[in-house]
Amino acid sequence: MKVRINIRKTIRLRDRKMGREAAVGMAHYGVVPLIELDPRQGQKERLGTLLHELLHIVFPDLDEEQTILCEQQIASVLWNDRWRRIEADIEEIPVKKTIKPTKPTTQS
Ligand SMILES: [Zn+2]
Repeated sequence: MKVRINIRKTIRLRDRKMGREAAVGMAHYGVVPLIELDPRQGQKERLGTLLHELLHIVFPDLDEEQTILCEQQIASVLWNDRWRRIEADIEEIPVKKTIKPTKPTTQS
């Protein structure tokens, strides 16, 4: 059996509070696929949701049960390897200052 893989150069991500959909994530197919994530999830749940929606886009032939199994397997390994979301904006991450080497002082 050949597995269909849908590789895209760009997959957009967007945070959106979901209520009516009774979901915490949604995948929208298209030339540039879009994944929407409810920002009110905890880190571990968000990781699973992101993987789940990515799996729907990349492996469109998986059914919901297969998608959930893959999501749980991958999320568990990534979580146990301590992958976490960085919450701060990029501007807030302190830039590592380079320390210039000091010139050796000559003693007379
Ligand atoms: Zn699903």
